[in-house]
Amino acid sequence: MQYKSTRDKSISVSCAEAIKTGLSADGGLFVPESFPSVTMDEIKSLSSMSYNQRAYFVLGKFLTDFTDEELKKCVDSAYTKEKFETSSIAPLYKLNDGTYFLELWHGPTCAFKDMALQILPHLLTTSMKKTNEDKEVVILVATSGDTGKAALEGFKDVEGTRIIVFYPDNGVSEIQKLQMVTQEGNNVCVAAVKGNFDDAQNGVKKIFTDNDYKNLLERNQFRLSSANSINWGRLAPQIVYYFSAYAELLKNHEIEAGEKINIVVPTGNFGNILAAYYANKMGLPVNKFICASNENNVLTDFIKTGVYNKNRDFHTTISPSMDILISSNLERFLFDLYGGDDERIKELMSKLSETGAYEISDDVKAKMQSMFCAGYCDDSETMATIKKCSDEYDYVMDTHTAVAKAVYDKYVGETGDMTKTVIASTASPFKFNQSVLIALEDHNAVAGKDEFTLLSELAQKSRMTIPKSLYSLKDKSVVFDLVCDKDEMKQFVSDFLMVE
Ligand SMILES: *Cc1c(COP(=O)(O)O)cnc(C)c1O
Repeated sequence: MQYKSTRDKSISVSCAEAIKTGLSADGGLFVPESFPSVTMDEIKSLSSMSYNQRAYFVLGKFLTDFTDEELKKCVDSAYTKEKFETSSIAPLYKLNDGTYFLELWHGPTCAFKDMALQILPHLLTTSMKKTNEDKEVVILVATSGDTGKAALEGFKDVEGTRIIVFYPDNGVSEIQKLQMVTQEGNNVCVAAVKGNFDDAQNGVKKIFTDNDYKNLLERNQFRLSSANSINWGRLAPQIVYYFSAYAELLKNHEIEAGEKINIVVPTGNFGNILAAYYANKMGLPVNKFICASNENNVLTDFIKTGVYNKNRDFHTTISPSMDILISSNLERFLFDLYGGDDERIKELMSKLSETGAYEISDDVKAKMQSMFCAGYCDDSETMATIKKCSDEYDYVMDTHTAVAKAVYDKYVGETGDMTKTVIASTASPFKFNQSVLIALEDHNAVAGKDEFTLLSELAQKSRMTIPKSLYSLKDKSVVFDLVCDKDEMKQFVSDFLMVE
């Protein structure tokens, strides 16, 4: 199967090429030329398979240039019981008759980004080999918290790769910082940038677009690459778990084969919900996709009105991984809705970069609204939802998952739709322990307490086990205390790679 660009559909590259380059040279994103179909019999047969077998089956439909052996090796290196603390990898938790949480946070960094970033390094290094690339890949990441750590864990000690992560000096939570500065591995580097997330991200972008620097690195046998969610190698692994969830529902006799389900996703960059949409295009029976946002509700407005407008105040919320105003994967969705009209996508995207806004046509809006619903909630509703769910069901969610639950509850209130529903649960409550404890009790519950005390108190309150990877931070020593000026990031990269 070949891949084309959303801004020029005459471009045609292999999957390995798409994963290796990340972004198409014309600025577009790679999408498959067509969507492979999966029959209901095949979905039924997934019920008796392990997660790895399901992943192998679904990914095999897209990565047709990988051999069976290569793909198996990628899947089995990524999804192990050791790394995910459960052999089901992405377990489905039944809240009540009709509502299920797809827990995507059992991986090494306790957020759903592990589902893709544990396998991406293997897909990438395999793609490099297949395309006869002999240089070493250097992954540069600017992170606001979750992506950086997930990328570090994924790439650590992966042969043929190095990774450098920049995080804003004062912009990540205590636990996120601890997770990064104690990172082990002999090919990793972590630095704080004096500035905010935008400064870190701009610094990385400048390095990526500096052609002289790119040539200098190439002369030294390095090739820059990115681990963010525009890479097809991050999106494809996310399609797998929606099939897996459906297979679990069938296995547990919660649904009949062919029965449509709703899927609710707490959304930022639109990657996770797009993966659900792609699963549906392949044959997964879906009634409605419900897109949930926090107060940064640019997607809610877009789905309700057809107008995307990022010119608005940015809110810092207790669900920080969804504090995003430009959802980069929306471009892939639009390309699909417009039936592959690359000229229109180019137009819309240049309007977005020039004016910060665009509007889609009425017929495309109608098509979108026949499948997608959207809603948002503020921090106090998020808190109240965590508390209510804990009181009613004894189930404690993180803040991002709670946004999804709050929006779903409102949806049911408005529509009365009783279709069985899977809610994507994207982080462990322990990762956002402070907000979760405040929700369950009050501000006094956290005042003056350190991270490890908070973890223990949350464990007591929720009767859940603290994820090993968070608890063990206590005994880890700080490896990286590097701070770098925002104008010195390039020099920092050069020093780490020892090029001049
Ligand atoms: C990244 C992230 C999201 C948003 O996912 P997108 O694919 O960007 O829409 C939601 N929740 C958590 C915990 C995340 O880390």
